[in-house]
Amino acid sequence: MPIATTNPATGQVLKTYEPMSDEQVGAAIERADLAFRDLHRTTVAQRAQWMNAAADLLDAERDDTARLMTTEMGKTYAAAQAEVTKCATACRFYAANAERMLADEPADAQAVKAKRAVVRHQPIGPVLAVMPWNFPLWQVMRFAAPALMAGNTGLLKHASNVPQTALYLEDVFRRAGFPEGAFTTLLVGSEAVDRILSDPRVRAATLTGSESAGRSIGQIAGRELKKTVLELGGSDPFVVMPSADLDRAAEVATTARCQNNGQSCIAAKRFIVHTDVFDAFAEKFAANMAALKVGDPMDESTDVGPLASERGRDEIHAQVRDAVDHGATLLCGGEKPAGDGWYYPPTVVTDLTPQMRMWSEEVFGPVAGLYRVSSYEEAIEVANGTTFGLGSNAWTMDPAEQERFATDLDAGNVFINGMTTSFPELPFGGVKNSGYGRELSAIGMREFCNTKTVWVG
Ligand code: NAP
Repeated sequence: MPIATTNPATGQVLKTYEPMSDEQVGAAIERADLAFRDLHRTTVAQRAQWMNAAADLLDAERDDTARLMTTEMGKTYAAAQAEVTKCATACRFYAANAERMLADEPADAQAVKAKRAVVRHQPIGPVLAVMPWNFPLWQVMRFAAPALMAGNTGLLKHASNVPQTALYLEDVFRRAGFPEGAFTTLLVGSEAVDRILSDPRVRAATLTGSESAGRSIGQIAGRELKKTVLELGGSDPFVVMPSADLDRAAEVATTARCQNNGQSCIAAKRFIVHTDVFDAFAEKFAANMAALKVGDPMDESTDVGPLASERGRDEIHAQVRDAVDHGATLLCGGEKPAGDGWYYPPTVVTDLTPQMRMWSEEVFGPVAGLYRVSSYEEAIEVANGTTFGLGSNAWTMDPAEQERFATDLDAGNVFINGMTTSFPELPFGGVKNSGYGRELSAIGMREFCNTKTVWVG
């Protein structure tokens, strides 16, 4: 894949980059290693000052950065602005909370026959971050803010279609005051990852991306005995039970499916609806989806912009055609528009069967699968019936049923009566083929720390 900015709204290539040479990559790793030796000896207060300065830069430069992101991957300008603000908030959260998250945790000295015993959290060194284009700033920030606050250094291999956003991230941390080499963007293709992760100076890797990239990085890391966090794909269930507020559920379902032009790992993708309310929900949901405005992502009245790549659009259209060819019913959408730009209409497909690709595959675009179930048990069976386990969503006013969903949904998170999202305060990650490890919160920060037992006799 060439390293280039191509505007998904027009298909025009705007800027291309030569990949960095092996020598340039080696020099960047060396700088990251040297910077680590300095950074982990700085105080948390010093790092917090730099992190707050990064937040201020993000806020001040919000609109230009948002325009850049929209140009590189097609999300609406409003969504891009919100993403920049979310990143600034995360920087401030880790600046304010790192001291507490990294503080020594005293153990019961008497029980372990010591005068003093503590658990200490220390950084481990340069961490490679392989990141996707869908939230080009946020995906990186949710790794970078906690990692830098812990005293690690970061090497970013961003997706090849967002090179300017990747370079901007390096620039923000440098201007905020972090030492040279603390956070470096490597403009390289995915084939360079093996060599980088095999370098002894690189201590760990985090990947947000597809299952196949996860398997590849997991294999390299296994061979090299290095820690990884893998945030992979999802096909999140959105369960609607008879007691649900149907209007609200249908409204959130529409936003959840079409946010980021349908390209979010934790988008609700499979809508599993109890038969008692199926027809009413289907009607409201399809009407909401059909009413969304598809168009220029810079236009503030646009709800859904283009897909990030032509390949991505071809893929979701093939999944929809496969379903329809095997007997599924289209409630709206499903036609690939003519003209420039990789647009796709919000689409609802029902009467799905296990023979269809949509039943088991992730659909990375504004396409919803609608399933009818006749009991709680069947809802759980369908919801848990894929190889994924990232997010999940259930709508019910019954407190006992809410508790059952929270326990029975096999996923890294369960949201009841609200849209699945990520917060700096809460851990984020998946189970099954959606990956392992967690980002965000103290748990995410400690993924790339040496949890050291200190025993003093
Ligand atoms: P992708 O192809 O896996 O790309 C993601 C990153 O991995 C890019 O930087 C890519 O580089 C790199 N990459 C791809 N194949 C690789 C390999 N074999 N070895 C090393 N690096 C490799 O993912 P995508 O299709 O662009 O992104 C969408 C996927 O990401 C979806 O499945 C989505 O659900 C998932 N995702 C998950 C989360 C989460 O938090 N769990 C969040 C967002 C997205 P190049 O660009 O150079 O190919």
